[in-house]
Amino acid sequence: MSEFTFDVNVAESVLDVAIVGSGFAGIGMAIRLTQSGIENFRILEQSADIGGTWRDNTYPGAACDVPSHLYSFSFAPNPRWSRMFAEQKEIHGYLKDCVDRFNLREKTSFNTTIVSAKFDAGTNLWTLTTYAGRTLKARLVVMATGALNRPAYPDIPGMEDFRGRVFHTAEWDHSYALEGKKVAVIGTGASAIQVVPAIAPKVKSLTLYQRTPAWVFPKFDRPIKSLEQRLYRLLPVTQKLFRGAIYAAGEAATPLFLKPSALSKMAESIGRRHLSRYVQDPELREKLTPTYALGCKRILLSNDYYPALARENVSVVSCGVDKIEGRTIYASDGSKQVVDAIVLATGFKVPVASAPFDIIGLNGKVLQDDWKEGAEAYKGMTVTGYPNMLFTMGPNTGPGNTSVIFYIESQLRYLLNYVKEVLAFDDASLELKQEKQTSFNEMIQTRMQNTAWTSGCHSWYLTPSGKNTTLWPGFSMEYRLITRQFDRESYVMHLATSGTVAESDQSLNRLFEPALA
Ligand code: NAP
Repeated sequence: MSEFTFDVNVAESVLDVAIVGSGFAGIGMAIRLTQSGIENFRILEQSADIGGTWRDNTYPGAACDVPSHLYSFSFAPNPRWSRMFAEQKEIHGYLKDCVDRFNLREKTSFNTTIVSAKFDAGTNLWTLTTYAGRTLKARLVVMATGALNRPAYPDIPGMEDFRGRVFHTAEWDHSYALEGKKVAVIGTGASAIQVVPAIAPKVKSLTLYQRTPAWVFPKFDRPIKSLEQRLYRLLPVTQKLFRGAIYAAGEAATPLFLKPSALSKMAESIGRRHLSRYVQDPELREKLTPTYALGCKRILLSNDYYPALARENVSVVSCGVDKIEGRTIYASDGSKQVVDAIVLATGFKVPVASAPFDIIGLNGKVLQDDWKEGAEAYKGMTVTGYPNMLFTMGPNTGPGNTSVIFYIESQLRYLLNYVKEVLAFDDASLELKQEKQTSFNEMIQTRMQNTAWTSGCHSWYLTPSGKNTTLWPGFSMEYRLITRQFDRESYVMHLATSGTVAESDQSLNRLFEPALA
């Protein structure tokens, strides 16, 4: 892989903040730093373009299932969204616009893959090493590497010798024409329900391998007319109000996930009605009816998934795949199918949430070891033993029913205050107190019990041992409230030159505040 060589000055000087990744979280952090007057930062991006998951997932039909007015930064609204639920290209375009609007391109090192981060307690600096062996020092590191960026490949015997084409939805092979081909799609998650309707009309036949049917709800999508766009541009408060209403609707659904109840049963009937509206064949309808509690897996929104499955050229095999021989797929129910191509809509490696590269903290601690049994952090952002290493979209901060951008923005506010505390000194680090991390995670796991997410289905939210390390077990507003203030008392400050700073010695911080305002 070719690597952008850092500007010599960047490589030799010490960055205040190194941001790893240029998806929503990385770009959002960079904007917030810029707005706060903190300029000595750099975004390190492993690809040649910004955008994270919205750069990578280019499969046909790729779109967001959260309305765009909410799936965008509150501090960088876009009055020009063309649909209620924007497609991948438009969201990627929005992120590129943000980068240009806040002059972040010149602050980004592309083709720069970080392979390790090591903390030195003697200097309170992190050393980041790139794939090409270059090093870079930073006082703080913001991990913005995202949760859904490592495709999960199913372990199917014979797949590596498949005699046709096989690719993952996140690595779509646009050079391969699907027209007239016999195609198998494995998986029925959020990616599959978008790709199936997009390719079904083109292919000769499509066989969908469904291990578990999804709960699918109607998607209230529509184009946004130019008049409406003009209103949002001329009267931004109207877009803010609309955003607020969308947020409130999502937030109101939270109890469905926290405690399955009679309300959940009523909500399930919406899904059943949606299914029977589009699928007349009772046998197919039964195959597609979920047998687990609503919300246990992600609820999917689509108006064209069920109609696509009812097409003549589409069939659903309701089991997994046993093996592949040549071009033949053998399903667990004994059926077999000869295909030209296999689309793996099999999701991402998420649950153990291991760090994307070696992160070595105090006393040689390795984050991957600490997270072997499932990732843990404090408020999803900081981890004991790894001072000045800050996480976005970390453990237990995923939303089940609202926009992830709401969580990211909560984190940006908290992390910005952390950064300011550290930068108020020449050589400071803030270390999270162990008891804070322990009690926070005990609270998370206690609240996770008896939720829809732990009600018995298999999902990417859970580790192999069944621990939910991905989702926030409450209202998103609660998360906003606990991240609103930076709780300095949860951390111990160390200065490289003079040791530990007493907790009460806050006056030092205030001395520096005017410079950071
Ligand atoms: P996913 O939800 O993890 O779904 C993976 C699918 O592959 C599941 O149906 C799973 O079956 C199946 N599968 C995995 N291994 C298999 C095997 N060996 N044999 C047969 N089937 C297998 O993945 P995803 O659809 O890519 O979605 C992941 C997440 O990405 C979503 O939950 C969402 O957060 C995000 N996403 C969002 C959007 C959006 O519109 N915002 C769009 C796409 C993705 P089981 O269910 O039986 O395990």
